[in-house]
Amino acid sequence: MLDLINELWFLKRDIVSDGFDRALQRLAEAVPMTIHEYPTGEPCWTWRIPEKWTCRAAYLETLDGRRLVDYAEHPLHVVSYSLPFEGVVSREELLRHLHVHPTHPQAIPFVFKYYDRDWGLCASQELRDSLTEDGYRVVIDASFEPGSLKVGEVVIPGESQQSFVLVAHLCHPAMVNDDLSGVVVGLDVARRLLAGPPRYFTYRLLILPETIGSVAYLSHNEDLIPEMTGGLFLEMLGNDSPHALQGSFQPNSRADRCLRAALPALDPLGYLGAYRSIIDNDERQFNAPGVRVPMLSLSRVEAPKSSGHPPYPEYHSSLDNPSIVSQERLEASRDVVLGLLDAYERDQYVVNNFKGEVFCSGYGIWVDYRRNPEGHRCLFEIMERCDGERTVSDIAAELGITFQSAWEVVSLLQEKDLVWLSRVPHPTTPRR
Ligand SMILES: [Zn+2]
Repeated sequence: MLDLINELWFLKRDIVSDGFDRALQRLAEAVPMTIHEYPTGEPCWTWRIPEKWTCRAAYLETLDGRRLVDYAEHPLHVVSYSLPFEGVVSREELLRHLHVHPTHPQAIPFVFKYYDRDWGLCASQELRDSLTEDGYRVVIDASFEPGSLKVGEVVIPGESQQSFVLVAHLCHPAMVNDDLSGVVVGLDVARRLLAGPPRYFTYRLLILPETIGSVAYLSHNEDLIPEMTGGLFLEMLGNDSPHALQGSFQPNSRADRCLRAALPALDPLGYLGAYRSIIDNDERQFNAPGVRVPMLSLSRVEAPKSSGHPPYPEYHSSLDNPSIVSQERLEASRDVVLGLLDAYERDQYVVNNFKGEVFCSGYGIWVDYRRNPEGHRCLFEIMERCDGERTVSDIAAELGITFQSAWEVVSLLQEKDLVWLSRVPHPTTPRR
């Protein structure tokens, strides 16, 4: 994963651009992927696909030709989707178009103007503070032309058409934790699902430019939406912070209940948050009206949105480079995602073959308190909830224990032929 990051991070991956296409093409070599194309101008619900943007050169110079800022040195030196511009401007006018990072004096900020167009350069606060001359020369050699927005899709077919969707965006030029970390974790998850045993659900991984990529894909695949039973957006998975699982717009969905109950066993320091309380990304398009796919989000956000601070110190800046992520943390996040998906696969209705309370000693039912303290403590409470109307995650949630603890007990009961698992409710309570 880190090798891919090192290879791709510095590409100019603006939403519709050659750099984005090159990065996606490279990812498609790592795993079987379909690349969907949506041409410039194509309507997508209330949106339209934007033009392709290319910036060939951009710089800021003193009038005697001393170069102060150069796009050739860092892709963040130009506002993504900046209008072209060439001329001599006053210091005052330049400062209106020269963006800096709000907190890091040495960082170049990530600024984009996809729809509200203007020309702009980005530099460090230190550079900005050093500008004392009356005039400067600005060159932004950029162009807009028809192109096509690309969405990469990896499908891991399951027994059922019902699907679980993983999404990551790839459109942040020269940054790593936001957003390449989510892409490489998603890709590695997909690789493992493809190599693993057959699954019940179909899994889809979508790699796209943020927001417009999701809208383009969803609006062109409306027939798939009813089959999407849950989803997980991935990003910010390389920094050193516990996992944050943000719920969907429908907190009582099966996906929410299951993933929420499974996280604590996968990252004991992990924390949960409500929809839109931790970080906003493509899950918004999936949770939106007319779509309503319960899509959660997994990240390692250090300061949730509600705190008013950036999600991590290097966010949206040139400091978000490979030095702030590690292979170890990416692998740990991949394992958390795989653990969440395993729980989702196994989360079925638990149907009792027994009536009354089970004669445990007769069946040799005993849960090791060292291995599974919650299962040991809640054995009887779990068994009394096996009635064909509750899933494993429902039982876990009712008892305030992890999915995995409840699952171990349910598997033991299944081994003893006391219960069986069903994808649909199968109530065994006599009707009155
Ligand atoms: Zn971002």
